[in-house]
Amino acid sequence: MKTVIIGAGAMGSLFGALLTYSGEEVWVVDISKEHINTVSSIGLTLEEEGKLQILHMNATTDVASLGKADLVLFFVKAYHTEKAVSDALVLEKEDTIFLTLQNGLGNEEIISRKVDPKKVMLGVTGHGATLLGPGHIRHAGKGKTFVGELDHRGTDRTRRIAQMFSEADIETEVSTNIHDLVWDKLLINVGINALTALTGLKNGQLLDYPETLRLMEGLVSEAAGVARKKGIRIEGNPIEKVKTVAQATRDNRSSMGQDFDFRRRTEIDVINGAIVREAERLGIPIPFNRTITDLVKVIERRF
Ligand code: NAD
Repeated sequence: MKTVIIGAGAMGSLFGALLTYSGEEVWVVDISKEHINTVSSIGLTLEEEGKLQILHMNATTDVASLGKADLVLFFVKAYHTEKAVSDALVLEKEDTIFLTLQNGLGNEEIISRKVDPKKVMLGVTGHGATLLGPGHIRHAGKGKTFVGELDHRGTDRTRRIAQMFSEADIETEVSTNIHDLVWDKLLINVGINALTALTGLKNGQLLDYPETLRLMEGLVSEAAGVARKKGIRIEGNPIEKVKTVAQATRDNRSSMGQDFDFRRRTEIDVINGAIVREAERLGIPIPFNRTITDLVKVIERRF
């Protein structure tokens, strides 16, 4: 399978390196010339559990030079998805698969507006990574990856991708309820990300104050209500799940927290902002998520 990864930041270059070293034909594409020049000339510096490795892979800024692809994997931030999909159309042939493993809600719809939805596949990943500088990432944590068809069928092509990823040490399963899993991860992000951004706290510290606990419970119970109304199956108690993740990642700053630290735009629109949009469509009041979304948006506008 010829795979092209669009967005070679933290996650794109991690997946690119792992797939390359398992013998797959892979190209990573990014708009950052400095990053791609470093990866092409020196290699990718991967930090993992305190150890440094230099990994080599095919990298370019020129997607049009790559010919056609069997698999296109999107790993850009959500606010770049639309442009990334337009750029990736040159890779399309009759049976190209367009897979997103991005966080949040809405990427599937953006891709499906430009590409036949039958070619679009959705997933979630439990891997975590941080871009430390041009050509330099930290692999922060491992977790399972799931891929699935939009219509929830188990298909040969999902099994092929799961096998290819698993052989590259990206443990992957096919899911026949991928939207439930997307929401499962969304609820975790809804409860942690914006709160850590606004308060400056690490994930685990959200559990140390009655005020942040109250806010977390408000955000997550609103979002779970929206999910249930949409027919999404929520396993277990979502608030307890968020608390468990916050505790397990106690010393981490969430990605949105880091975005605030470096005065970068966040993915709020596809996380708490997406809950607000869905709630409005369903006529459900959504005060916690609306307030938090508004606050994040006002602050990031000044970055
Ligand atoms: P990142 O900012 O490290 O990387 C994104 C890269 O996309 C950047 O290098 C940027 O230059 C590039 N880009 C932007 N527009 C482009 C275009 N048109 N063509 C090619 N490249 C383009 O982001 P990340 O942390 O790797 O996250 C990517 C996505 O994966 C996000 O949606 C995020 O929510 C999701 N995700 C991240 C993690 C994590 O731990 N970092 C885990 C799971 C999911």
